[in-house]
Amino acid sequence: MPSMNAYLDDFGKVTVHINRNFYGGRSESFHITGDKGYSTQMLITGIEEHSGYVRYNLTCPAGLVFGTSYHVREAHGLSVPLEYRMIVNTQQFNDRFFYNGDDLGATYHWTHTDFALWAPTAVSVTLRIRNHGTLESYPMNRGDKGVWRRRIITNLKYATYTYFVERNGEVVECVDPYGISSIGNGRESAVIDLDEISRIQDYPLEEISGTDAVIYEANVRDMTSSSLTGTDENGTFGALSQENTSYENMPTGLSYLASLGVTHVQLMPVMDYCTVDEFHTENGYNWGYDPMQFITPEGSYSSDPDNPYARVRELKTLVCRMHKHGLRVNLDVVFNHLYNVETSSFHAVLPYYYFRYNSGGFLSNGTYCGNDFASEKPMVRKFIIDAVRRIMSIYGIDGMRFDLMGILDIDTMNAVRETIQSVKPSAMLYGEGWDMPTILDSSLKATIQNQDKMPGIGHFNDFFRDMIKGKTSDDQKYVKGYVTGDLGLSFGTLSALCGNVLNDPFYMRFDSPDKSINGIETHDNSTAWDKMHACCSNEDRATRQKRQKLMIACTMVAQGVPFIHAGFEFAGTKRNNSNSYNAGDHINQMDWRRAVYNSHLIEYTKKAIALRKKYRGFRLHFARQIEKYVRLSVAEGGVIFYEITCSDTPNETEVLKVIINPTFDDKYYNFESGWKIIFDENGGAREDTFTEVRVPALSLYVLAK
Ligand code: CA
Repeated sequence: MPSMNAYLDDFGKVTVHINRNFYGGRSESFHITGDKGYSTQMLITGIEEHSGYVRYNLTCPAGLVFGTSYHVREAHGLSVPLEYRMIVNTQQFNDRFFYNGDDLGATYHWTHTDFALWAPTAVSVTLRIRNHGTLESYPMNRGDKGVWRRRIITNLKYATYTYFVERNGEVVECVDPYGISSIGNGRESAVIDLDEISRIQDYPLEEISGTDAVIYEANVRDMTSSSLTGTDENGTFGALSQENTSYENMPTGLSYLASLGVTHVQLMPVMDYCTVDEFHTENGYNWGYDPMQFITPEGSYSSDPDNPYARVRELKTLVCRMHKHGLRVNLDVVFNHLYNVETSSFHAVLPYYYFRYNSGGFLSNGTYCGNDFASEKPMVRKFIIDAVRRIMSIYGIDGMRFDLMGILDIDTMNAVRETIQSVKPSAMLYGEGWDMPTILDSSLKATIQNQDKMPGIGHFNDFFRDMIKGKTSDDQKYVKGYVTGDLGLSFGTLSALCGNVLNDPFYMRFDSPDKSINGIETHDNSTAWDKMHACCSNEDRATRQKRQKLMIACTMVAQGVPFIHAGFEFAGTKRNNSNSYNAGDHINQMDWRRAVYNSHLIEYTKKAIALRKKYRGFRLHFARQIEKYVRLSVAEGGVIFYEITCSDTPNETEVLKVIINPTFDDKYYNFESGWKIIFDENGGAREDTFTEVRVPALSLYVLAK
């Protein structure tokens, strides 16, 4: 700890800490000093004794001028810079400095580029531009609302830049929080001519969302990192954009995704993250939930990390190529924290603003990642809204999945929904609505508990996962779910199958089925197959494969939005690694050999997806339809009957009857009139109608008439 720190914590309020090593922490007077001989004594209003230091509460003149450098001098002559601290979290600060323009960042024109940076407490800002190998520095001009601007009249198409921000007594270099791209490892932001990107040909798709969507979660690197993939430059945007690749007649990469019949691919984080050296990707691995730049694509997925156009062009090409093959693209975005506060551009530009702090000035840590992004503050919310708008319009994506959405606030998420749907009306929005211990009132958090305040925003339904597969954390891996052997969970499973939208006698969590994202396996935790290694350890492979098929089929027939994690469809394994975010390619990559070996499971999954897409009864859009058309019951032995009488179902089908038999016995059912079998234990259909139906042990049947 330095000898003394001085903080401006409110209008008219300064806090000083003096280390006890310095005159025992004692000072009898304090002056605030500024330019041109300005000096005023401050009044001591309180003294607090702490173990290593003494805290002084002082009153200072309320009319200090933002953008001015002040010092605080104590009685022995020690003088330190006055840091703008908690004052930036006051209502008055927000009222004075909230800026609503849409021009922050670097805006390129072939004759000039405009730079704008919101930095209300900065004393000076210098723009340093690297253009064709030469460095030039330009002082920026402070304007209204604390926005610093500079227009550079030349063609900066291939220029890169950083800012030098002088605040709180030091000058800090940083990239642009609004940067669209950067050179390798985020060292400098880049000016980008977006016309270059908009010329990449796109292939517009029919707008599909909500319960009509089938989401498949994939990681850019994992999809092609295996040498069996048959792509060039494995693990990059470019590799996943390659068409017509295969391994032993099994399509791989993009072609594999396109073969499944899913409507949306959810890409795990593709925006810049910190922990992989972009120049030596072979030495590092990370999923990317460690963000540093929110609008700049990750350079380790680029063919040339130091060429700022490469990553932007290649991500856009990937999105367009997915569209060409009928796949919509949702991005997994991580607006809940930053990898490192101290080295982030946000902290450099305006310390103490972008993150949540407790009253003692310490960072809130509800994410367990060291900090929480303060979405509820007006200019943080604006940043998130601007970022999602720019990502939507640059890349033409089809939706967003918010990591740890419950860290963010309701108003921000509703504004995000309005923003992305103003760009694309069918854009999907969903996230992890967990209630995390962040410093934000529970009534304001974007959690499942507050789902009714966020229309059109989905949440991962952990109840669905826990009922059907069984609980998922490490200490619960032996806990069975309904289809892994605990038939006592049949009643809870009824609730899950209706997307948890029905109340009494069920457990209602959501007021609309499009809010229930039904994923049995996600990137987190063990794969379903690895979990069965624990909870069904006494069962043979064939039995566990039947259970895997039950999980796949339950996901596809349930009301809500089905979600598949890559590999779930072929009983993927992470070799019992339950937290593989940095475990490397050999654990995380798509195992094409296993996919070929278990191709019957993939074929089964494709049939289950096709079944869902064919029958509207599995995709009801409103809770009131589910209440009206769906009948759920538990039959003898724990078998579930799930009947949908949806009069607007096409294909002349009036009634769908799903029978889930997770027991070890074949079950026989007699009906008064005949039923067609449209989905059997292999996903197959029969032409005839039957009045007696055998539902084999550990299988799911769908009947129709
Ligand atoms: Ca990076």
